[in-house]
Amino acid sequence: MSTTQRPAAEQVVLDAVPKQLYIAGEWRDGAGGETVAVDDPATGETIAEVADATPEDALAALGAAHDTWYGGWRDSAPRDRSDILRRAYEAITDRADDLALLMTLEMGKPLGESKAEIAYGASFLRWYSEEAVRLDGRFTMHETGSGRLLTMKQPVGPCVFITPWNFPLAMGTRKIGPAVAAGCTMVVKPAKLTPLSMLMLAKILEGCGLPGGVLNVVTARSSGPVMEPVIRDPRTRKLSFTGSTEVGRKLIAQSAERVLRVSMELGGNAPFVVFDDADVDDAVKGAMVAKMRNVGEACTAANRFHVAQPIADEFARKLAAKMEGLKIGRGTEEGVGVGPLIDEEQLEKVDELVQDAVAKGARLLCGGERVAGPGHFYKPTVLVDVPAGARLLEEEVFGPVAPIRAFASEDEAIAAANDTEFGLVAYVYTADVKRALRVTERIEAGMVGLNQGFVSNAGAPFGGIKQSGIGREGGPEGIAEYLDTKYVALATD
Ligand code: NAP
Repeated sequence: MSTTQRPAAEQVVLDAVPKQLYIAGEWRDGAGGETVAVDDPATGETIAEVADATPEDALAALGAAHDTWYGGWRDSAPRDRSDILRRAYEAITDRADDLALLMTLEMGKPLGESKAEIAYGASFLRWYSEEAVRLDGRFTMHETGSGRLLTMKQPVGPCVFITPWNFPLAMGTRKIGPAVAAGCTMVVKPAKLTPLSMLMLAKILEGCGLPGGVLNVVTARSSGPVMEPVIRDPRTRKLSFTGSTEVGRKLIAQSAERVLRVSMELGGNAPFVVFDDADVDDAVKGAMVAKMRNVGEACTAANRFHVAQPIADEFARKLAAKMEGLKIGRGTEEGVGVGPLIDEEQLEKVDELVQDAVAKGARLLCGGERVAGPGHFYKPTVLVDVPAGARLLEEEVFGPVAPIRAFASEDEAIAAANDTEFGLVAYVYTADVKRALRVTERIEAGMVGLNQGFVSNAGAPFGGIKQSGIGREGGPEGIAEYLDTKYVALATD
């Protein structure tokens, strides 16, 4: 659709975004001269056109990352890298309102949530600015007393980052922060649905003194053909991907040929388990956070609720009341709690999963349909008596839908929670400390929210097991992904 007259404040933030590729410190058009439209998911209107990179453009970006790394960035002073990240953290924080508006325009989430993502995304730059000057190694005596063992950490080199649309800034800074701190260079390809936040981040980092060629950004309509040659190129030393398990599998296969080092932050199917000793109101509060953050379009979103039989009805009733009370609308409007889903395809998928559950016998307590009119809005939905075999329980919903099942015992709850190929995060509500320990140990997930519906934190290792991924982002583990270990055997005799 064409661009229409929009509020001046919105046009100002859109105009501030560079719309070209960022390669070797220069902003330039794609070699083919084509562009990709970016649409507002609340209205379907086009809000910007960004450059459409060709495979040659992406290889040029890799060339810049390669030359900049060998040209000196790998030996750059940690304090300089730290200062750049710290300045970028402050610049983003100073401009949080504009960046949040930009994010809401391209991705749809309510402004309050965009602000939360800006703060979360920026926190990785601050955290890793503090890590950049703390990189260390080991020096030990050989067990015989003769000779020494020196272990050093070195940056892995030029990296390729591919990020999704659901957290357009933070999924970039979780990689860029530690990679810059470690002394790596990079090519970043954001999702075509939400490239504007990443382009704006590149402009901010440039303004904060990041040398040209350290960070290169390519936007593209056809991510597969554009990125595959880059992934297969021997100059690439590391691939870090955040997105679906389906695409992750393909990228692992492409990486296998050269045994390319990979980090994979993939899909989830988070169980939210509530035991009968839990405070129901507290669990409902946590459920709203775990379910409705990002309108349910989060890898950490509670995908299914397993609630102890004696409190299942009360929990479902209270959750439905909260869900029904949320205001649906464009994310820029005051008081909106539910923005649009990202596109028509996502909306149709969510509805299909709900209708599948209903056809198999689930009962709707609220929602269960799209909102008529423009934009991709779906009503917050709660389903009870969801039978085993409903696709909702097995697939990542990525929408404001809460399926609830009752359980009779702790063993049954754990078995149900683990009955998935995914293992990103699980939420557990219980007031019993011994049970909390038992259950968190047996849950098959990389992260557990214990009596809380939110786990993301720059200082903590975020990531999954099973088909939810490989590697961690955040905390000391997050920078280890960008460092190689070299051991030197030293003779003393
Ligand atoms: P997606 O379809 O897998 O896309 C992710 C990124 O990969 C986008 O930049 C996409 O580009 C690109 N891409 C798609 N096909 C590709 C290919 N063949 N080669 C190279 N790049 C390719 O995922 P999404 O729909 O954007 O994001 C939602 C998914 O991300 C969910 O499954 C969610 O759970 C997961 N996620 C995981 C985490 C985590 O930390 N574990 C965090 C956030 C999201 P285009 O879109 O431009 O085609």
